[in-house]
Amino acid sequence: MPTYEYKCQKCEHIMEVRHSMSETADSLKLKCENCSSSEVKKLISTPFVMTSNKRSSSGSCPTGTCPL
Ligand SMILES: [Zn+2]
Repeated sequence: MPTYEYKCQKCEHIMEVRHSMSETADSLKLKCENCSSSEVKKLISTPFVMTSNKRSSSGSCPTGTCPL
């Protein structure tokens, strides 16, 4: 079962929730574990952005300031 990160829209608390892909925050009636708000939003993990240490062959610079 995959783990998803949810961010509370009120207090910006981030929590990890394990549930199946077919379920949503609505169907699970997820609430913020910090402020009990039901306004939680799923964070989409982006492994692409996080692995920018490795020199890629694409040559694209995300900031436009990378030295050649
Ligand atoms: Zn909260």
